Amino acid sequence: MDGVEGDLWLVRARLHRGVGRRGATRALLLSTPGRAEGARRVAELLGARAAGVYGKAVMHVPLEVAEDARRVAAELGADCCVAVGGGSTVGLAKAIALTSGLPIVAVPTTYSGSEMTTVYGLTEGGLKRTARDARVLPKTVIYDPELTLGLPPAVSAASGMNAIAHCVEALYAQGGNPITSLMAEESIRALAVALPLIIEDQNDLNARSDALYGAWLAGAALAAAGVALHHKLCHTLGGSFDLPHAETHSIVLPHAARYNRDAAPEAMARVARALGADDAPRGLYDLELKLNLKMRLSDIGMREADLERAEKIALESPYPNPRPVEYEGVLALLRAAYEGRRPEA
Ligand code: NAD
Repeated sequence: MDGVEGDLWLVRARLHRGVGRRGATRALLLSTPGRAEGARRVAELLGARAAGVYGKAVMHVPLEVAEDARRVAAELGADCCVAVGGGSTVGLAKAIALTSGLPIVAVPTTYSGSEMTTVYGLTEGGLKRTARDARVLPKTVIYDPELTLGLPPAVSAASGMNAIAHCVEALYAQGGNPITSLMAEESIRALAVALPLIIEDQNDLNARSDALYGAWLAGAALAAAGVALHHKLCHTLGGSFDLPHAETHSIVLPHAARYNRDAAPEAMARVARALGADDAPRGLYDLELKLNLKMRLSDIGMREADLERAEKIALESPYPNPRPVEYEGVLALLRAAYEGRRPEA
């Protein structure tokens, strides 16, 4: 793992502090399959405090994977989970914490902000359900921009847009307040500057550091304010149609913002100001173009024939939303995202 090479002792010290503060002596290291080597090396840094590595975290936390990981944690007698990775890895740690109460030390390596929320998701029988529980909030989070240097530009940009999506919805969600709005606007501003710099130069450590700052703010804002229609649609598209999480958020966001624009003028004014744009939905769309992101749901495997089914699933139990959730309007939103059209003025 890139940063560990350059900063071995610092990472070791932070990890020991994070795990030690929890009084843990048997940490289970978690990662995605592609990042298991990195988790093994972190386990080496922990020495006797590492009980083992479970490297099978995948997106949307399928229940079978959660149950397997819970079994391994119990068999190893783990007393703490160390999640080294993005939202998929943190999500698996949350699933373990939910039933066992084990504390989580999160070492985020993407910008999706999951490490700051009490929200967890589990996918069963093609349906992703999310809920909140204080037990799943990581007890310690170690932010180290060097650990995100290996994150490819496209994944960096998409996970950063996922964080921006948290902020856009935090600005109009039911639980929002003046402080979460300040945090959300500041996060969008930080990410809108940092992400293009990361695309230009993958090794720009200052930009990576600013992106983690934005991710932290985004997760914290979402945790307090909640989410709305955009997240509901993305959870449906991810959980029931297996679309990649961060890209789905990025593609749907300008269209969800357009759907809500006139019902949430103050929120949209803040989004536009943070982006330096005249119009929030168009500003989001233009930022994504600049980041070379995929712009159409059809680019990431969505079938046109499934749009209506997706809408029906999402509307079965809609989240509170500033504009009433109407059948025709939401279908038009999904169609616009499918085709990747620039939102109308
Ligand atoms: P991810 O964790 O799925 O990672 C994306 C890919 O990048 C994976 O293949 C991973 O192995 C790889 N990767 C991660 N870090 C890397 C690094 N430093 N270098 C190279 N490759 C690296 O991505 P994500 O977008 O952070 O997470 C998506 C998941 O998180 C979804 O399941 C989503 O529902 C969840 N999520 C949850 C919340 C919440 O509050 N509960 C918030 C955001 C996202």
